Amino acid sequence: MRQEPYSAQIEHAARLLRDGRLVAFPTETVYGLGANALDAEAVGRIYQVKRRPGTSPLIVHVASIEMAASLVANWPEIADRLARRFWPGPLTLVLEKQLNKPPVIPGIVSAGLSTVGLRMPAHPIALALILAAGVPLAAPSANRFTELSPTTADHVRRGLGSDVDLILDGGPCPVGIESTVLSLAGWSGGSPPVLLRPGGIARSQIESLIGPVASAGDPAAGPHPAPGLHPRHYSPRTTLYLATNGKLPDRGRGLYLQHRHAPSRANITIHQMPQSPAGYAAALYEVLHQADAGSYNWIAVDRPPSTPEWEAVRDRLQRAATEYSRAGAS
Ligand code: AMP
Ligand code: MG
Repeated sequence: MRQEPYSAQIEHAARLLRDGRLVAFPTETVYGLGANALDAEAVGRIYQVKRRPGTSPLIVHVASIEMAASLVANWPEIADRLARRFWPGPLTLVLEKQLNKPPVIPGIVSAGLSTVGLRMPAHPIALALILAAGVPLAAPSANRFTELSPTTADHVRRGLGSDVDLILDGGPCPVGIESTVLSLAGWSGGSPPVLLRPGGIARSQIESLIGPVASAGDPAAGPHPAPGLHPRHYSPRTTLYLATNGKLPDRGRGLYLQHRHAPSRANITIHQMPQSPAGYAAALYEVLHQADAGSYNWIAVDRPPSTPEWEAVRDRLQRAATEYSRAGAS
């Protein structure tokens, strides 16, 4: 009974994409704002709608390893091993683009770089959409630049409204934060893989498969383009502080996102966050969207542990926090 309207909607969405229009769709990480990745004009509309600077490359979503391999100059064995283990899933692989024969990813997708970020999303609607469209989809998160990423269709509707031609509703995103971005661009030249952005797949999971990876900024990584990782990104409109040991601002109406530490003062609203990193990540953006809709003067977040399994959550919180530049995180 439910199958027909579902596939009819996917078909309709795929037609829009082939016509150069924009479709917002669910993935396991966050909602994406998709366009045909081979259509430079359609991709231009993504930047317009997001008001995103042209220096920030887009991730290209594929439905198979074969589709990914057809877009790059060389699909190395290490990429194959990673893709076979973690795809479909929240791991983006950055590789040199293929430029000699179609399909060629236009320069606008990768912000003029010679590389492209590729991933196969673990979401039935996203995969069905790519297959129905028959082309790879360029899709950043479906929000205006610097605003919070959407993890429900309603977030997309409120953030982008009529600027998007269609929103496919797949319910809340199960991972809830963006993909891990791993560059393999220097691999054939002897450079190690470089973790450009922590995310849905933990560094330890990658390292247990391929050995140590460098971080952007490590001397071992060498100079490495990590564009689009603006310090203020993923931010709520409300001022967000990272609280150490429950210590809160002493003025104003606030919301405290508690993890382990009780707040230092009474008369504030407390929201208890999930204990596990995966549960926390899945809940985070929805809680911040709700907090933004309330009339708080500030949000204080109980700092999560500084252990490896919290790396991605810590990264997003640091980028969301007002004190980001002073915290000196990278
Ligand atoms: P978003 O889709 O909004 O989560 O952002 C995509 C992010 O992926 C960008 O901000 C970059 O950090 C990263 N990325 C995508 N393509 C490349 C690339 N070719 N080289 C390096 N980083 C990339
Ligand atoms: Mg984004």
